[in-house]
Amino acid sequence: MNYSTETKCLMGGYTPHQGEPRQVPIVQSTTFKYDTSEQMGKLFDLEASGYFYTRLQNPTNDHAAAKICDLEGGFAAMLTSSGQAANFYAIFNICETGGHFIASSSIYGGTYNLFGTTMKKMGIECTFVDNDITPEELEKQFRPNTKAVFGETITNPTVSIFDIEKFAAAAHKHGVPLIVDNTFATPINCRPFEFGCDIVTHSTTKYMDGHSVGVGGVIVDSGNFDWMAHKDKFPGLTTPDESYHGLIYAEKFGKAAYITKATSQLMRDFGSIQSPMNAFYLNVSLESLAVRMARHCSSALKVAQFLEKHDKVAWVDYSDLESSPQHALQQKYCPKGTCGVLAFGIKGGREASIRFMDSLKLAFIETHVADAKTALLHPASHTHRQMTDEQLLAAGVRPDLIRFSVGLEDPDDIIADLKQALEKV
Ligand SMILES: *Cc1c(COP(=O)(O)O)cnc(C)c1O
Repeated sequence: MNYSTETKCLMGGYTPHQGEPRQVPIVQSTTFKYDTSEQMGKLFDLEASGYFYTRLQNPTNDHAAAKICDLEGGFAAMLTSSGQAANFYAIFNICETGGHFIASSSIYGGTYNLFGTTMKKMGIECTFVDNDITPEELEKQFRPNTKAVFGETITNPTVSIFDIEKFAAAAHKHGVPLIVDNTFATPINCRPFEFGCDIVTHSTTKYMDGHSVGVGGVIVDSGNFDWMAHKDKFPGLTTPDESYHGLIYAEKFGKAAYITKATSQLMRDFGSIQSPMNAFYLNVSLESLAVRMARHCSSALKVAQFLEKHDKVAWVDYSDLESSPQHALQQKYCPKGTCGVLAFGIKGGREASIRFMDSLKLAFIETHVADAKTALLHPASHTHRQMTDEQLLAAGVRPDLIRFSVGLEDPDDIIADLKQALEKV
């Protein structure tokens, strides 16, 4: 059956047979038993598929990954221990020392550090570009050793929209894939593959979990990128892997090549697995993702409309607002709504913002975002505090920016809380 995305939240990734558990079981086992040495040997040669050690694969994780893959309309997926691990693996799987990639500068602070500082130490160079870069300028950023382009559907924390089609066109013209971190939109509100993106990542810690329970990540491959057509750029996929008796991933695994390599090399060697217990929690949360996203969006729009009219509020960024300069992009990429996260500034700048935040009662100050419970954060003094003012502005983060994550509480209560705190400013 070809179910809608809403139904796939319940039906995707796991179909019990007669007498089997209705809910995905937690396979809390590090290892799996085999009858003969030969059967086990075939697994190590990637000649047969099967479970043997949870660092590589575990059934609970695979059911959750399969559901997310189904939701995104992808071909293959793997869970990781965090969103950070997902983004690192997504790039490192195709871009090694001496390689270069292009990333939007409007991305999560942790990803910015990973790309700009840590991966640089590994000899991998990243060029950051503005989301509103012209196609002509974007063209000029490609080099012979460029391996990928990266962006976030809706950026954390500035909630601006990444023009997937523009970046996909440039990436494909240069024979490289576009990787999109779809954490904030979730596949309920945007499916990047439909706009030409090749690989999707998520921090499942955010809406997918949605209840502040478990840190996690996922990589989903559309299977659409033709690695063999760009053989010289991606030797890791198109030439023999000596650690697996010389097999060639793109030849042997076709559309599953990218995820198979990520699992059998990166997960094998770096080991950033998600625990089966966390994968279980994630899978349970995914069942209500569509219902929660609709509520997050409708409540966030009410909050944004309230803030927009308030005379102590300097500005509001939420592209679902008709007044937003990004409203046309929102209508194109996330017509059902973006997410529950919005950004705004209080008149009186940085100090007024801090006074306001400290006066809130229902909304808690947390580094967390995209959750059932309303939370807020001041990036300049929290998540992005390692950035210089210049870097902050380059990432579009104004010093007075408050990231406000609208939860599932009654929106009237959230607005009442904002109202009383604004009165104290
Ligand atoms: C939180 C976040 C990450 C990092 O994910 P963790 O699960 O915290 O490691 C990456 N991308 C985006 C957009 C995020 O919001």
